[in-house]
Formats: sequence, structure tokens, C-alpha cells
Amino acid sequence: MRKKIIAGNWKMNKDIHETAALIAGLTERLKAFRDNVEVVICPPFTSLVVAQSLVKGTSIGLGAQNMSQHDDGAFTGEISGQMLCALGCRYVILGHSERRQYFGETDSTVNAKLKKALASGLTPIVCVGETLEEREKNLTESTISLQIKGVLHELSSADLDRLIIAYEPVWAIGTGRNATPAQANDVHRLIRRLVSQISGWPSAEKVRIQYGGSMNPQNAADLLSQPDVDGGLIGGASLKAEAFMAIVRAASEISA
Ligand code: PEP
Repeated sequence: MRKKIIAGNWKMNKDIHETAALIAGLTERLKAFRDNVEVVICPPFTSLVVAQSLVKGTSIGLGAQNMSQHDDGAFTGEISGQMLCALGCRYVILGHSERRQYFGETDSTVNAKLKKALASGLTPIVCVGETLEEREKNLTESTISLQIKGVLHELSSADLDRLIIAYEPVWAIGTGRNATPAQANDVHRLIRRLVSQISGWPSAEKVRIQYGGSMNPQNAADLLSQPDVDGGLIGGASLKAEAFMAIVRAASEISA
């Protein structure tokens, strides 16, 4: 059985003081749960040092929101996988649609980052998703297929066993309009089929696929109950301890 994973993508929110307050709220509430859900937070780079010390000894995993495809050198403003590992990060979000939209990331750069993240020992959370225009033109399947083939290019079955895929329809991110549970599950099923074409069903059955896009305490249980939805990547609702932990609670109850 695939363990559900709930990850918070804080984006460019929370300075070090706000980070400490939010983590205090999360750790306090986490005590009420059985350890049957993987809980991850991805604060901004500037908060990782503080977050590392505050999540120590808890079951909260730490992740970053991006990393370089290079090891080191003259890449002003960039952060390497090794630097993240040294800060206690175990996860890194790659290819988020905001990185694609505002920072020119492509499937090919995401693929390069993915390989580097795996080589650094990080667990990548790789994002794919169609725009509203693509969905309305019935291009969801072809868009997701191209993205999955592009980001997973030349990865081995062993690599595939170590990553997490996040299906994040672009039209659902930060809009308050989530995919219906059936829409989400259909695309998750498609992603699993695409992974099976690359490395067979055992890998496809193993890979965890999160849904992301306006998941909140009200819709989480319905989305997370879908057979191919293995967790959530949460933006807005991860910024409040109560809302984020309500989603964790929904995942925990479904997994009980
Ligand atoms: C995200 O940006 O990864 C996300 C899912 O955002 P939101 O939950 O706010 O839609």
C-alpha cells in the first residue's frame, strides 16, 4: 500500500519568525495523529535553517521548492542539491507551474534537475499539469503525456521508485477551483499508465502521485479517497497550521 504524503508548498511566504510560529502550530497539532501519513513542509530557502532545527525530532520532513541542475560554480542566485541536503532537506519540488511560467523552466530543465536531485539523495516531487486552455481543447492527455515523457527522460526503474509525481492542473492552482475527484483520478491513472510504459507495472503501482490545486480541508477527503490519489501538494492551505493539519487528518483517517 502506498503511504499518503501531504506536502506544503509555502511558496514565497513566511520569514524566519513566521516560519517558527507556523511550525510550532504544526508540531503541536501533529501530536494527535498516528504516524500513517508522510508530512512534508517546503518553506522558502531563507527559512530552511530555522525549519531544520524546529522539525528535528518530529515526523515532519523538510523540502525545498527548487534547486539548480548544477553542482556548484558561477550560477548567481542558485542553490545546489548538496546545499539542501546539508540543511536536512529530504525533498525538493521540481517543475512547479510557477517555475515554468515565470522562470522559463521546461521539461528538459526539469529533467536535468530531477537527475541531479536523485544523485544528491533528495526525493523529488515533480510537477506536471495542463492549462485551462489545454483542458478545454481536450489536450489534457497529450499535454500530460509529453510532460511525463520529458521530465522522466532516461530515468531508470530504480530512479522512478524514488520520486513522487504531483499532478497540478494549472487552472486549479491558487484559484479556489479544484479538479473534481474523478477528474483528478483520471489523470493520476493516466500518469500511472505512462510510468508503466517506461518501466513496467511494478514501478507504476509503487509511484506516489499527489494531487495539487486548491486542496483544502473541505475537499481533501473526497480527493484523497480516490484510488490513485496518494496525497496532496498544498499551497494556500499550507500557510495556516489548522488548515494544513485538517488535510493531514483527512489523509490519516482514510489510511487508518
Ligand atoms: C501549489 O502551488 O502547489 C498549489 C497546489 O497551490 P494551491 O493549493 O494554493 O492551489
